[in-house]
Amino acid sequence: MEGGGPSGSHAGDQPLPASAPIRFYGVVPRTVCDHLTDNVQPIPPAGLCASDPCGSCGDTRENWLCLKCYQVHCSRHVNGDAQRHRDREGHELVLSYADLSVWCFACDSYINNPITHSAKQAAYLSKFGEMSPEEAVSAAVSATDADVER
Ligand SMILES: [Zn+2]
Ligand SMILES: [Zn+2]
Ligand SMILES: [Zn+2]
Repeated sequence: MEGGGPSGSHAGDQPLPASAPIRFYGVVPRTVCDHLTDNVQPIPPAGLCASDPCGSCGDTRENWLCLKCYQVHCSRHVNGDAQRHRDREGHELVLSYADLSVWCFACDSYINNPITHSAKQAAYLSKFGEMSPEEAVSAAVSATDADVER
């Protein structure tokens, strides 16, 4: 008989934490990575532009931003220039302009670490024209913090 509720698939066994990490294609990102300190530099003062083309081939479809030198290169699904940049320069951490995930070539894994959050926030801002809700809150807090009244 169709229309009955699913039986035996009660999904309440493992409560999700309030801040469950975003899942990328079912892969849970690592939170620690030995390459973060050496391969993540502060965002350029001019900010980020999520529509920047690949610096090598000019493709705009699916690009990665190097978090060390802030050059933009296309994914392996296009011409593989991000991989080539990593092989040539040894810069391990990249941020996807497609889904704002961070990838470490050396770890061969997605990374979710606070060190990369400001770059993600800047990319989100460029992509959507506004801050992501949670980032906006923390930015407002730190702005109030820094903006000491005089
Ligand atoms: Zn790593
Ligand atoms: Zn390219
Ligand atoms: Zn680089």
